[in-house]
Amino acid sequence: MEELIGKVFDEFPTESDWDAVIIGGGPNGLMTAAYLASAGAKVVVVERRYEIGGGLATEEILFPCYYSNMHAIYHMMVDYMPVIQDFNLDRHALVWIKPNLQTAMVFDDGNSLLLTRMVEDTVDSIHKFSHKDAVAFGKLMRTWRRMVSEIVGPATYLPPTPSLDWIVALQRTEIGRELLELNELSPLQIMTDHFENDRVRALLLYVACMWGLDPNESGIGLFVPLLLERGMNKSYCYGGSHKFAGALAREIVRNGGVILEASEVTKVNMQNGNVAGVELMEGRTLNSKVVISSLDPHTTFFDLVGRENLPITLKETVENWKYDKWSYYTLHLVAKEQPKYQCDDPWVNESFMTIFGFDSTDQVVAHWDNVMAGKVSSDFGGHSTCESFWDPHLVRMPGGNVSFFQMHAPYDIEGGWEKRNKELEEAILDKWQRAAPNMKRENIIMTTSETPVDIEIRFPNMRRGGIKHGDYTPMQLGYNRPNTECSSSKTPVGGLYLCGASTYPGGMVTGGPGYVAANRVAEDMGLKKWWKPTPVMEKYIKTYME
Ligand SMILES: Cc1cc2nc3c(=O)[nH]c(=O)nc-3n(C[C@H](O)[C@H](O)[C@H](O)COP(=O)(O)OP(=O)(O)OC[C@H]3O[C@@H](n4cnc5c(N)ncnc54)[C@H](O)[C@@H]3O)c2cc1C
Repeated sequence: MEELIGKVFDEFPTESDWDAVIIGGGPNGLMTAAYLASAGAKVVVVERRYEIGGGLATEEILFPCYYSNMHAIYHMMVDYMPVIQDFNLDRHALVWIKPNLQTAMVFDDGNSLLLTRMVEDTVDSIHKFSHKDAVAFGKLMRTWRRMVSEIVGPATYLPPTPSLDWIVALQRTEIGRELLELNELSPLQIMTDHFENDRVRALLLYVACMWGLDPNESGIGLFVPLLLERGMNKSYCYGGSHKFAGALAREIVRNGGVILEASEVTKVNMQNGNVAGVELMEGRTLNSKVVISSLDPHTTFFDLVGRENLPITLKETVENWKYDKWSYYTLHLVAKEQPKYQCDDPWVNESFMTIFGFDSTDQVVAHWDNVMAGKVSSDFGGHSTCESFWDPHLVRMPGGNVSFFQMHAPYDIEGGWEKRNKELEEAILDKWQRAAPNMKRENIIMTTSETPVDIEIRFPNMRRGGIKHGDYTPMQLGYNRPNTECSSSKTPVGGLYLCGASTYPGGMVTGGPGYVAANRVAEDMGLKKWWKPTPVMEKYIKTYME
């Protein structure tokens, strides 16, 4: 090969030295690198794909001329994420859109229920179904917003506390004690205890659990206020989610860091029990005493580091690691019109997210039960967004509207994805047309779909299509994620750190794992940290940690 085309990447040495190598250029890897580079470390980010971003992908998959946010579109932690303020990322035209109407649920009989940023508008909407629930929602959100803003929100960006210590710490305040009580319950129990109307329960349960909480699992109740309250504060990244990745990359490069795209790490080199750098697929070696991985536990520990270099506890963690209980199937499309939902409230057509296909809580739960058993019945539902309604940049040929429908789906589907993909696409289009009659076939210009298997092909670190690199269960959350030895990002393997979704606090574009890792590595490397915890984090530390 070399005789024919010369040496690939001639401008880059075959062997080079770094202060830190970051594996994976998704949101967490980029954040870690941005902080370390700005603190003076010589960093390199190594990304397997042809471009950085990971889950922040915006791509022309509806070719030509239509762009879609393939993965993360609903940004839930924008107002908490320290990286945005620390780097003043918004100064280079990074704009977040935060619609008031966040989620609408459209029922078969034409009724609709709205979940809005302004609690009062949700209360008004719930009134259509139950006065008692409307009052309960208003009251509950006053408490839940405090739980999030005073405890769970700031804790997302601080190293995890051992479970027992955290319980003791939360006992210090009344709101902390209430959160602990809530944590004992399952999401379904919480909804059933607080609300009488089944449709109200169905909407709130969907929003609280859609990112991977089992509605029947107890011991994860504290995620309900977090995911519901954050689900009422989703932002859209104007210009596409990839712009966020671009803004982070700019900070890395501005501070002398290097980003290598289309470079896959194939091995973490070891020397005397410590990491010594990484090998890349094209044959280069990057030497470094610090390697920070944003990948899933199997890839990091078994494929790259090697079982022989791991303590037994860590080997057991990886062997027992459970990938996400469900993945996503997404149908992306371009239509001549944006969907016009046939329902009692025209505001639904301006909803950031619209759920349809479900009429009851039982149906929502049955769909998830089916998915966990490897099935999708005709009674499925899911959520959709008309992206180009929020972002005209996604359309480069006038007259098209980009939307998607997304549903929870199993990796191992009965019958196999090759067979079921087309059949599911047709079923979704039928359902969509029933909810929004203008989504008829003659109005659809183009479609393309992404199955859980496709997700894994695009991102091998999202094993089994796992969007969070690992399931949310009590044994894989908090101080236990991925295990008690590694959840603060440092691992028992000398010089190896974790910064991705399989590490505390977990998946989604929260920036939590990336920020916690950056702090830990900076401290261990003796770098001068120029950034400080945000005021809400400081208050949390003072109240619960000192
Ligand atoms: C369909 C779908 C919808 C989603 N929707 C949302 C949403 O609306 N909101 C939200 O907050 N989250 C959403 N997520 C989840 C979110 O995208 C992830 O949890 C998040 O991207 C995890 O960030 P990360 O940086 O830890 O890892 P990733 O984003 O997975 O990044 C890891 C990077 O490592 C690279 N890589 C893999 N192997 C190697 C290797 N050997 N060498 C070098 N690089 C490698 C990958 O290419 C990737 O770029 C969604 C995910 C999917 C799949």
